Amino acid sequence: MSVAPLDHLFRPGPRRALPRTCRPSQDETTGSYLLRLAAANRITGADLVDYLTAGASQSIANVSLAAVSTASGQPPVALAYALPELRTQHTDLPRVALPGRTLPAKPNTVRPACRRCTATRTTAERIDIWRRHEHNICQRHRLWIGPGAGHPRDQVDLAAHPDVVHAQVRHRRLIRLHGHTIVHTAYRTAGEIWEMLTHRGWGVPYALARDLHLPHGFGHQNWPADPRDPVHRAAVYPEVVTLTELLVCTHWRPFAMSASAADRDRFRAEFQRRLPPAYHDLANTDLQLFTIVRHSPVAQWHDPQPETYPSTPAQAQGADR
Ligand SMILES: [Zn+2]
Repeated sequence: MSVAPLDHLFRPGPRRALPRTCRPSQDETTGSYLLRLAAANRITGADLVDYLTAGASQSIANVSLAAVSTASGQPPVALAYALPELRTQHTDLPRVALPGRTLPAKPNTVRPACRRCTATRTTAERIDIWRRHEHNICQRHRLWIGPGAGHPRDQVDLAAHPDVVHAQVRHRRLIRLHGHTIVHTAYRTAGEIWEMLTHRGWGVPYALARDLHLPHGFGHQNWPADPRDPVHRAAVYPEVVTLTELLVCTHWRPFAMSASAADRDRFRAEFQRRLPPAYHDLANTDLQLFTIVRHSPVAQWHDPQPETYPSTPAQAQGADR
């Protein structure tokens, strides 16, 4: 047996708690939590890591769950549930309920928590969270926290756009019905198709029916045709979810894959029926929609990268529920 996995048990670390503590947020990155803990105790993050590793390292990667628990005074199990990167260090891991919890790895990404939720819980300017692909809108504060919102000030206010906010509910419902793996694969394909359908050429704005206000202080004021920016991602979210719903549906998906023009027309008519009237023409014109579907992972339903700890061996292998 290798002794390397037990190395952290013998590493010297802190022997007593710091004067002040703070509670970790769900799925917070270790770095984000340590910065907040350091700020609460009026020391730098580097000094805290030095304390946690007894001067052995300046890397957060070498900080142990036991050391953070001692220094913060927070129970190890609470830290293991909240901080994905330290979770597997818990000494009683089999008793930790893992299924459905967010993994600290691709395809998940790190983005700031909703700025209004953060303001109610802490004095910190931001809390960084591991996000799955469906974590896009804070339902409580109606802010876009999805792709493109890499800074709290970029979180687009969606209070005037209930259809965009509701798309988050529809997205989560799809995951409850079909599982993460299937929905994420279909969602990526749907996003690619919608980008293709709405693109109007280099330097020309995308065809978008929603007029979302830019966040205060947002860099580019003349809304460029850039699908990576948070305003664009929020504005197209309902239609991408709509197309995802069709692609995961065992009734409608075969029509999109079919070689028959009549079958494809049935899929197109259903897609059009579910779109806002301003978008009807988009679904009417482009045959590329079906080419993208047939060449996408949707046609194979294979996604080897889970976003949460799987609850069954079948899901661990990327199978649908
Ligand atoms: Zn919020």
